[in-house]
Amino acid sequence: MQSIDSFYPQLNQPFKAVITMHQKPDGDAMGSALGLYHFLKALGHEATVVSPTNWADFLRWMPGIPEVVDFERNREKATALVNEADVIFCLDFNILHRTKHMESILSEAGGQRILIDHHQQPQVEKFAYGISDTSKSSTCEMVYDFIMASGHGSLLNLDMAQCLYTGLMTDTGSFRFPAATASVHRMAAHLKDLGLNHTLVHDQIYDCFLENRLRFIGYALLNRMDVLYEYNTALMYITSADLRRFEIKTGDTEGLVNYLLTIQGIKLGALVIDRDEERKWSFRSKGDFDVNSFAREHFEGGGHKNAAGGRDSENLETTVKKFRAVIKDYYNQLQ
Ligand code: 5GP
Ligand code: MN
Repeated sequence: MQSIDSFYPQLNQPFKAVITMHQKPDGDAMGSALGLYHFLKALGHEATVVSPTNWADFLRWMPGIPEVVDFERNREKATALVNEADVIFCLDFNILHRTKHMESILSEAGGQRILIDHHQQPQVEKFAYGISDTSKSSTCEMVYDFIMASGHGSLLNLDMAQCLYTGLMTDTGSFRFPAATASVHRMAAHLKDLGLNHTLVHDQIYDCFLENRLRFIGYALLNRMDVLYEYNTALMYITSADLRRFEIKTGDTEGLVNYLLTIQGIKLGALVIDRDEERKWSFRSKGDFDVNSFAREHFEGGGHKNAAGGRDSENLETTVKKFRAVIKDYYNQLQ
């Protein structure tokens, strides 16, 4: 993988681009993809955002979202776009299998793959150019840096600002995580200067759910949470019946795992959801406990030191049992 800087000269000749991100895109994945989309269009390139799956309703207000192609709903069109692209930007993931059913299409495509991402252990051999920086708060921050360093920073506009602010806000937990550096706040200030209404972005992302989601959270906290005080760990498991009962949609479970860390002394929060063909794990930690390694080792996953995900093809009961068993080996690290 060559440095992203050596890609800049190519920005001066028109190309066809596809921008993609991890499945079930969150605020950072969709925000960075759409931020880059608006930038490439402003430069005169042909660009399309192709999402591997559907996305949460709380992203539906984002400028450019009606043009996003959902691979699962429109396979033929999405495949043709990927195959015809000169350049394929891969944002907010670094292992092709995180695009689920798009993996083989992406790896066989003729276009140059370009990585912009902040997760650990990138599959560098898969990318022609790229930047991987785990110190960055968000992929949105990295796309902002990409735009500013490209020499075309004057093209930054309000549409880009709204998209890029979204991931900056969501991936820093509204500017509370250590990755919310002075440069993150300087970027936010620049976006404000462009006319950004940050209150509106916050409302649309966090305060636009239906009643059923709040009832579901109450139910889950009361009935589906175990606190393992000995291990300073809180565990939550959501059954497929729970998802049906509360009519839970993509995005409704986002943020649920964070409640676990609000209990005094808890260092590890683990949430597992019985979702379709797999049991999807989310891990969050405080301090030194490295959930990226934990997820990699036991649940085919990864992510960051304090926020990671994973999966299990076993049933819910089995995977929860496995978690309760493996956590015993981490007694010392969790004290
Ligand atoms: P979440 O728990 O919100 O789904 O994910 C937490 C973090 O871990 C995110 O940065 C996400 O991109 C990453 N992540 C989630 N699931 C996986 C996975 O299966 N593999 C890897 N490598 N990273 C994941
Ligand atoms: Mn991210």
